[in-house]
Amino acid sequence: DPAGRSGRWRVELGDGHTLTADAVVVAAPAPVAARLLRPEAPAAAGELDAVDYASMALITMAFRRSDLPAEPPGSGFLVPPVDGRGIKAATFSANKWSWTAAQDPGLFVLRTSVGRHGEDEWLRRDDAELAALSRRDLAEAVGLTAVPVDTVVTRWEGGLPQYPVGHLERVARVHRDLAERPGLTVCGAAYAGVGVPACIADGRRAADLTLRTARPAGEGE
Ligand SMILES: Cc1cc2nc3c(=O)[nH]c(=O)nc-3n(C[C@H](O)[C@H](O)[C@H](O)COP(=O)(O)OP(=O)(O)OC[C@H]3O[C@@H](n4cnc5c(N)ncnc54)[C@H](O)[C@@H]3O)c2cc1C
Repeated sequence: DPAGRSGRWRVELGDGHTLTADAVVVAAPAPVAARLLRPEAPAAAGELDAVDYASMALITMAFRRSDLPAEPPGSGFLVPPVDGRGIKAATFSANKWSWTAAQDPGLFVLRTSVGRHGEDEWLRRDDAELAALSRRDLAEAVGLTAVPVDTVVTRWEGGLPQYPVGHLERVARVHRDLAERPGLTVCGAAYAGVGVPACIADGRRAADLTLRTARPAGEGE
């Protein structure tokens, strides 16, 4: 809500409290951002409504290093759809993130992921089935046949925004609409890159824009 003529923003929180702010950066996923922005920026909200998301499940497994004849090298691999496998990627967490290995040097932790855009049925399979298909695909891809000492399956409904052809133009339209409302902007995975580094860069862009365009506190009151 723009708070009257002061040029500041009034944000009504779910718990009934109200914040008054010089600027607002909406960093929530696109469907939520659309809902929050709709009263103030309906055109931007309409664009964000159209951003589609994929759901996925992560299957995290811990192996005893002593059970592995050879540890899988590198940080993992991606599986193209044409390969017709169950998993779409494997991340060798123990190699990729040293803090994972530091938790227990005797364990080799990795995770696989299932669920491409439009394939939500993977998420409805039970944990044991997802673990079994992961182990089958890992065995064929990197020869890993050891039995994990623990497995955790985590489901991420609507976790990954999808970028079809025309996405960048859509994002440009969102930013153009919001530019007419200084002190209001958006950032996050739905805009200029899904990976964590891209999200951080987009957050910095939003912060820079906010510092340049938001009305300084007290001005106009
Ligand atoms: C399973 C999975 C694995 C991934 N692995 C990798 C990887 O290995 N490397 C990599 O670079 N990227 C990875 N990604 C992508 C990356 O993690 C995400 O794209 C990124 O973290 C998204 O950051 P974000 O700030 O846009 O969104 P989020 O971190 O999801 O933040 C959105 C925020 O909005 C808040 N929110 C939601 N609803 C509301 C509401 N109604 N009101 C207020 N706040 C709300 C949430 O609480 C949350 O804090 C992965 C993503 C997934 C789903």
